[in-house]
Amino acid sequence: MRPVKVVLTEKEMPRKWYNIAADLPHPMPPPVKPDGKPIKPQDLAPVFPMNLIEQEVSRKRWIKIPDEVLEKLALWRPSPLCRAHGLEQALGCPVKIYYKNEGLSPAGSHKPNTAIAQAYYNKVFGIKRLCTETGAGQWGSALAMACKLFGLECKVYMVKISFEQKPFRKMMMNTWGAECVASPSPTTNAGRAVLAEHPDSPGSLGIAISEAIEDTVTSKDTRYSLGSVLNHVLLHQTIVGQEALKQFEKLGEYPDVVIGCVGGGSNFAGISFPFIHEKITGKADKEVRCVAVEPEACPTLTRGPFAYDAGDVAMMTPLLPMFTLGHAFVPEPIHAGGLRYHGMAPLVSHVLREKLIEATALKQIECYSAAVLWAHTEGFIPAPETSHAIAAAVNEARRAKEEGREKIILINWSGHGLMDLVGYEKYFAGKLVNLELPEASLQASLKCLDGLPKPPAL
Ligand SMILES: *Cc1c(COP(=O)(O)O)cnc(C)c1O
Repeated sequence: MRPVKVVLTEKEMPRKWYNIAADLPHPMPPPVKPDGKPIKPQDLAPVFPMNLIEQEVSRKRWIKIPDEVLEKLALWRPSPLCRAHGLEQALGCPVKIYYKNEGLSPAGSHKPNTAIAQAYYNKVFGIKRLCTETGAGQWGSALAMACKLFGLECKVYMVKISFEQKPFRKMMMNTWGAECVASPSPTTNAGRAVLAEHPDSPGSLGIAISEAIEDTVTSKDTRYSLGSVLNHVLLHQTIVGQEALKQFEKLGEYPDVVIGCVGGGSNFAGISFPFIHEKITGKADKEVRCVAVEPEACPTLTRGPFAYDAGDVAMMTPLLPMFTLGHAFVPEPIHAGGLRYHGMAPLVSHVLREKLIEATALKQIECYSAAVLWAHTEGFIPAPETSHAIAAAVNEARRAKEEGREKIILINWSGHGLMDLVGYEKYFAGKLVNLELPEASLQASLKCLDGLPKPPAL
């Protein structure tokens, strides 16, 4: 039998998170207020606990993972590094394809890696209840699970259209004891204002964020929690790439290309930043390429400008230095709900400016086709988000064949698609379309950046 996976023991789990902020060639511009003044840590205190704010602004290279966090992560970690022999054979290209299977977590994606850590830090800070928003429900279910494990209450504002179309994610949240309401809801000022004007509003991530933050700052012992974008979230995901480094060491191999899909940027950062660390410090004997893959319908890294922009429509968040399509941008309803975000993690944006990573955008149908090939050859049914990383790996493999070069490819397999089968059904029925963003729509959306402060050049 050919070896299929490299498994680490619990004892071999990484004990520290890797903070790439310590190693950036140029420092990142700070988050600012609309007047251009930098945000101070105390400004964030009503929204996040101070121990997570400290991580958010930390420049320490290695941050210890608390034992209580490791113990919960060990419920499914370390995740296996698997070799996609079946896919390789189907492609017939001179490549080895490996993937970190993050779909084996209780909620089915990489998101519990940070949900567990965030619930823990809030718990030890004395917080009793967390509020958050969720689009398709991946993040809401991950946080619901983590809150229950640490004895916190959890309230999730779920974008109404998904609440109605994807009842199973809501049922998962309820099973883990969380309260999940459709957003816009009649329970917050932000929600009531939207409902007064549009009683049938399908909701949006921007509205749901505004509701969750309002609930947080008006409730006792409550804080807000975000599933991507922020520095501390990306930090918590670096356990994935560090495990992969150990697993490649056991194999005696090293990847040429590391691939992850990007919504807010956390799973891509989680797998790639530890490899970028080796690249920056000259530890690797190979020049690894890191490729972020986004949908053509929401092409933040490939077509958006680098600017200061808000994380939500109501502009309740600080202005973050990032590639953005404009906070008023409403992406087309592609099935990869987790990739429909107008902005990008400032750290991922920064390493792209530093040319430490590459970005590419793919069409929805090409991604479904790759996802189905994956299910037929590797068994697991990927999430629509994950299908973008798979399609990019297939393209890399075909290019290797054209160029007559051997290549080792590593994918962050960010989650399973067992709650997203409606997209597959539409794909099989020929009802999916490719939704490329017209230049005129992009330019119209970017108008909302007029008058905002501009980040300095590198
Ligand atoms: C949320 C999600 C993503 C996108 O989020 P990132 O923060 O960019 O990682 C990707 N894949 C899956 C399965 C998700 O649930």
